[in-house]
Amino acid sequence: MNYVLETFSPAQHLPVNTTSDGMKLLAEALNEKQDSNIIFVAIGECEESTDELVCKTLKEHFQSVFTEALDEECEFIVFMLSDDDSEKTLYCTECGNDMKIDENGISNHIDNDGSIDYELDADHVAIAEE
Ligand SMILES: [Zn+2]
Repeated sequence: MNYVLETFSPAQHLPVNTTSDGMKLLAEALNEKQDSNIIFVAIGECEESTDELVCKTLKEHFQSVFTEALDEECEFIVFMLSDDDSEKTLYCTECGNDMKIDENGISNHIDNDGSIDYELDADHVAIAEE
């Protein structure tokens, strides 16, 4: 039995770990399905040969990724929802309230609408549960 008809040479692609906000933005801008954890974006050899909507979206929000992909002569950019989303909710060991640690390693308590809770921060430093 032969199960394989044909194999294709793999396309050069640039994998990008993306935050949930980034994925949402892309999905909306490119009319992709919103709930997907992975979005393939085909690009051309240069900005001019890239689909207009794709080019506009990438230049506006993902310029560095777009530049890198063009430099690497990629055919696709693969945006993947990152597993370790730094925005995920942590809980403070001290008080049990929501907290977050930003990309600089600074921890803050956050209140219900996701903004920094300065009152709790003034009381004690937020320490994440392991
Ligand atoms: Zn606390």
